[in-house]
Parts: sequence; C-alpha cells; structure tokens
Amino acid sequence: MKKNEELALFIREQYETFIANKIKVSPSHSNRASSLGHPCAFYGFLNRAKWAEAKAPDTGLQKIFERGNMIEPVLRNLLRELGVHITAEQRPARWEFFQITGHFDGIIADSDRWGRIGVELKTTGNPVLANAKSGEEMRIIRPLGEKWFGQTQAYMIVGNFEMWLTVVLDVMGWNLNPIPIDLDLGYAETLLKRAEAINLAFKYWEENDIIPENAGEAHALGVPMLSDYKICRRCQHYGTSCFPSVTLGEGATVLADDELESDLNRRAELEVAAKEFKALDERIKSRVKFSGAEVIVGDHIIYNTTRTRASFDIPKEVKEQYRAEPTEYIETKFGSLKAEKEKEEAET
Ligand code: SF4
Repeated sequence: MKKNEELALFIREQYETFIANKIKVSPSHSNRASSLGHPCAFYGFLNRAKWAEAKAPDTGLQKIFERGNMIEPVLRNLLRELGVHITAEQRPARWEFFQITGHFDGIIADSDRWGRIGVELKTTGNPVLANAKSGEEMRIIRPLGEKWFGQTQAYMIVGNFEMWLTVVLDVMGWNLNPIPIDLDLGYAETLLKRAEAINLAFKYWEENDIIPENAGEAHALGVPMLSDYKICRRCQHYGTSCFPSVTLGEGATVLADDELESDLNRRAELEVAAKEFKALDERIKSRVKFSGAEVIVGDHIIYNTTRTRASFDIPKEVKEQYRAEPTEYIETKFGSLKAEKEKEEAET
C-alpha cells in the first residue's frame, strides 16, 4: 500500500473510532424541552424511566449529532458576520413545577432594535425542513420538524419569550433559513399538560415499579403509546422498553410475485444508467445544437434539423371555458425500503 493510501485508511479508521467514542446514552431526570414535542407522549415517559435501556445512537446518527455540534459555532460566527449577535449562549431553561429543563442557544442581542427574541441554531439535510418559512410549516414535518417546534414552544413558555428565531443551515445547499416563530399559547399549554402527565406516570412507575402501559394505565395517565411504524422504528425505546404492535409497511398490499420482483430489481439496476443517459443526452444536445446541420465528432455524426411545431396561443379566459371536471388517475412511483430508511437518516 502506498503512503497516501495508508494515510487515507488511517484517517478513515480514526474518524470512525472518534465517532464511536462519542456515542453515549445520558440519564434523563426531567422532561427535556428537546423531546417534549415528540409525537409520542409515552416516549417522554420512557426517556425518564427507561433511559438506561434505550438503544444508543448508531454511528450514522452520531455523525449527525457531531455535525450539529461542529457547525453551531460556525453558524454563530456567520450570523455575527451578518451583523446579528447572539448573547447568553447555551442558556439554561428550567420550570421546576413541570420538571422541564433544557438549554437553548441564546438570545438575539440588540433588543432595542429587535425586541426580545430567543434563538436556536440547527442544521439539516432535509430539503423540506431547510425551506420551512414559519413555525406552522416546520411543525407539520414529522417527526423532526414537529420535535423542533415543540422544543421551541417549550423554551418560549419556560423562558417567557413571545418571539423566537430558529436559524436553520441547510448542509446540502448551504442555504441559511431563519424561521420566525411566535408563541402558540394553546400548543404550549398542551406541552405543559404532557409534562404533568409524564410526571404522574413517572411517579406511578417509581411507586409501583410497573410501566403504566403494562398496567393499562398509560392512557389514563395521559401518556399513551403512539404506535406509528414510521415514528416507532426510529425510536430508541422500540424493542427495548416499548413493544408497540406496528409492522413495516402497515396497511400496504404485499405481493409475493417472483417475476414482478425480478422486473423491479432489474428496473432499479437500469435506473441509474437511464438517469446518466438522460443527463448526457441533454448535455450533448445543448452543446451541439447550434454547431451546424451536421456535426462530426470522432466516429459520431450528429444531425441538427430545424423543424416547425404548431402552437395555439389561446387566451387564458377562453381556455378556462373548456376546463373539464378533474378526473382521478393513478400515478405509480417506485422506492426501496432500504433506501427509504437511509434517506430518513440522511435528512435528519
Ligand atoms: S416505540 Fe413508538 S410507541 Fe414506543 S415510545 Fe417509541 S414512539 Fe412511542
């Protein structure tokens, strides 16, 4: 092996070890603001009662955490360069009565100009989240956007903020997306109620040593299990302390058809080549289109023929008169279960 290859291998291995050494599961003695908005109330209870049994993040997820940690100071400096300063970095937030704790990234300085605005710095590879323009848009992107929104509302109610700015750096396109968020009092109150319910369930568990769900009490205590495969399969308690009856592709039609499966496998193999062909075809055409009627390159001959195409410039109002009732049709798209999981991880 050449020295540069040896060095490349050394760095690769060192990096994987560096990431693996960062993996840990920390005890949770309170309701963390960062997880209060999780779609599942029972998750919040398990975070406190069963944190020791929770699955540790895998290296893929840990890399995403490290990305956030490493980019946060970069983002802070970038904002400073843009004339926006953040004070009170990593400010603790705590509401003893509801046992809610957390640390938010800071407060926008220059309150005379901007008012009192709390700030959270985030990174994402999720293109939808990277383009959300409001808290409402962020909230409907499950589960991460919903979790961020909940976290923000928890910080706002605990820290007594009415205005917030979550600054999202899109790590794919390197776009900066500051999202203004207002306190949603109704929603924030549901978070407080959830915290109260988790506190009750936790007390029940401490006194009886029984997980409320196993005693059929989770609903009564207000911490029901969500049981949604899309959320559960990424949950650190799935299969350790929580066993919801959910299965992959729940509700999907499963076909055991070898011929169809083999056609789909072949289609997936050809898809990459087809995409490459299309991109090449477009690139070549754009380069030779105006080079003459016949163009020779090596052994290739390209014909550029000028043709005419009939078109009708119909005024919009006339066209509207012929608009028919919409009809339903079926659009067929293809995916892969493995790729779907990998995509979800990459977009976190
Ligand atoms: S596995 Fe599902 S139901 Fe159980 S705590 Fe996690 S999200 Fe909730």
